[in-house]
Amino acid sequence: MFKMTPTILRNFVGKRATRRYPYDVRPCFENARGEIHNDIRICNFCGVCAAKCPSQCITVDKKAATWSCNPSACVYCGVCVESCPSGSLLQKRECRRPVREKEMIFLRAEIKKEVVTS
Ligand code: SF4
Ligand code: SF4
Repeated sequence: MFKMTPTILRNFVGKRATRRYPYDVRPCFENARGEIHNDIRICNFCGVCAAKCPSQCITVDKKAATWSCNPSACVYCGVCVESCPSGSLLQKRECRRPVREKEMIFLRAEIKKEVVTS
């Protein structure tokens, strides 16, 4: 007990070792791997990101021009961003904010119709 007394006193008067997250958010580190963002206007729906994703949280439907991601399953490894051939994927520096319910990121692009004139 006497051995622990200095530690107990130090903890009583010292600065808190933890933050009151999410009210007190620490700024992200440089090169932090945060939320995934897809610029759907330049995505070509090749499906490479879905094939490479280790947690299988991306689904791509080329015919319907849709791209979806389950951010709760994402491990923020960045493999999809590194392998995206069109450069439409990027990883923000900020981490995802806490949410009360699970949500999906669902993006749909306008299907471009080719006009063939003869
Ligand atoms: S790898 Fe890039 S271009 Fe291909 S489907 Fe994924 S986000 Fe779109
Ligand atoms: S960051 Fe990793 S886990 Fe998250 S979607 Fe991309 S490849 Fe999948």
